[in-house]
Parts: sequence; structure tokens; C-alpha cells
Amino acid sequence: MKIEISRGVGGIKYVKIVEKCRLQDPRAGFSIKEYVIERRRDPLTGKWCRINVERALRERKVEEKEIEETVKKVFDEYVPTCPFCSSRIENTTPKFEEGDRIYHGKVIIMPNLYPFAETHAIGVIDPDRHVIDVSDVCDYIVDIIEGSITYFRRLGFRYRYHYINMNFLFPAGSSIPHAHIQIFATEYPSVYHEDILRRSVRYYDKYCRNMMVDYLLSEIQNSSRLIIASEDTVTFAAFCPRSYNEVHILHMYEHDVLSLDKRGVDSLAEPICRVLKGFRNILLQRTFNFAILSTSRKKHSKHFRIMVRLCTRKEPVPYYTNDIGFIELLHEEPVIITYPEDTAKKLRHGT
Ligand SMILES: [Zn+2]
Repeated sequence: MKIEISRGVGGIKYVKIVEKCRLQDPRAGFSIKEYVIERRRDPLTGKWCRINVERALRERKVEEKEIEETVKKVFDEYVPTCPFCSSRIENTTPKFEEGDRIYHGKVIIMPNLYPFAETHAIGVIDPDRHVIDVSDVCDYIVDIIEGSITYFRRLGFRYRYHYINMNFLFPAGSSIPHAHIQIFATEYPSVYHEDILRRSVRYYDKYCRNMMVDYLLSEIQNSSRLIIASEDTVTFAAFCPRSYNEVHILHMYEHDVLSLDKRGVDSLAEPICRVLKGFRNILLQRTFNFAILSTSRKKHSKHFRIMVRLCTRKEPVPYYTNDIGFIELLHEEPVIITYPEDTAKKLRHGT
């Protein structure tokens, strides 16, 4: 076991533990095979992941045709009853208690019929388009962000933590294939968000610096995980991913989506679109999750920046092996099969 620590800007530390596992490999006449496993600590949350890229070799190779057929079947089977299609949406989806829904461009926001929060809404994407592909989601990102901001404003000042999220197709946790987003606002941060804020408050007390700004500056400086830096945002592969091909987009200046004007929304939407197009066109993925985290608490201008997390999930085929097993679910240590530096290299060259 070897511990590798490298330093970023301010107090940002990247910690890796490199372990080796040796065994006699039946695929090579029982000769000695050595695996390298990296454990990495997330500089933002302090949590760990494991990376063994050779586990990718055990993945079932799925033909493109099989994936195409499954995805088509999933969409087709849902057509006759899809509550989000334009012929049904008015009568089959709920309204807010005020008696309305929010219409913004091609996105319609309404309460979630099965909420997990006091303020849990969904945003149906384009009722006229039952079937869309990963890269087509890009057509709606601006409407998604602006519609969600309208919803958050309507909720008032009580809810100061805001989340815009998406599960795309069943391996990503979506129960209805027609594309839709999940939005909620809370009085207290989500667990992941709280992990960051707790550490960032301590970091500010110690260094008098914003931990997230130091983190994004470190990623610009390091450059091996950097995908693209624009005037307002930095996009990079996460040093310690929680899921496959996890990419982070951080806003350099704003901690609150409610403070974004039209240009600000565009500048956040642009890198999201680039990553989604990269997921589909370069990494050939068909299913993903994303989450946008934001807070309107003024004091968090010292501790937080708007953050977008995006990741891919398993191929949508029958009997696929889930990407969450005992180690991820019960030990909270995700096992990842690609190096973030490789994900970044591919996405950087294609964007
Ligand atoms: Zn539909």
C-alpha cells in the first residue's frame, strides 16, 4: 500500500491510496496477475471511492442493436398510457394546490404525484416528443433551469436549498421513459450538500478562503481532469467519482441559481449540453443522471458555488448488472471502472 498526496490551491489536498492485489489467473495458465486498485478521497466531502479499471473487462459486451431494440421497446410500450404525452397530460397529471402548473418554453412543471419532499415537483420535457435521446436533452436545458427558477421563486424564502435533477431511462432510476426532471427545495441541505458545506465552513474558518473556489482553481491548475473552462464555469472529471464518468461543473462566482440572469443561465446550460453530447457521441452512453445544487443562503457565498454533477449509468438492456452493489450501497464506497483522467481526456478532445 502506498499513500500519494498532492496539494492543490489553498488547503485542497488530493489523497490516493494505491493497493496491489495478486492472484493466479486461470485465463493465462494460472500465471501471476497483479491488479492496481486506487482508493481516492474526495477533496470536497472527505468520502472515498475505489477505482479498478480492469473491472471494465468483466462488463457484458452489449451489441448496439440489442440496446437500440430495448430502448425502442421501452418507449413503445409506454406510448398508449404515457401520462406525459400531449394527448393525456392535461387530465392525467397533478396541479399545484393553487390550481395551476408552470409552463416555461417546452417544460411543464407540476407537483410530483409521489413526493419525497415538502416541495417536490417534476418538469415534463416536451409533451409532443415522447422519444428523445441523451443529446436531445440539450435542446431543453435552458427551459429546465429557467422553469425551475420560476418554481423556486414561487415557493418563497423559506426553502433556501435548491436542487434540479434528472434520471434518464430505467438504469438511472426513471420509472417513466418520457424525459422529465425532478426538482425540490428544502429548508436544510441534502446529505451530500451538507457534507460539502460542513467541511467548507471549517475550511473558511481555517484558511479564510472558499473551499469550492480553491477546488475549481486546483482543477484548472492541474489540468489532467479539466474538460473546459469558460468565463463563468469550470468543467472537469471528478477526482473521486461516485458513479461512472462523473463530471462536475462549478460556477466560479455564484452560489445561487436564483441570482442568475439570462446570460448566467446560458453560461450554465452550455457546459451541461457539451457534457451530455460528449456522453452520447463520444462515450456512446444512453442513460445518465444529473443534479444541480444551489443555495440562496447569503452566508454560503463564502462556502459554496453552484455545482452540477453528471454521470452515466449502465446500458439499458434486459438483465443488466446494476452499478450499485453491497460495496456502494452498504459501505458507501463506489467502485469505478474508469480513471477520471481518461474520462476527461476523451470528453476534452470531443467538446
Ligand atoms: Zn410520453
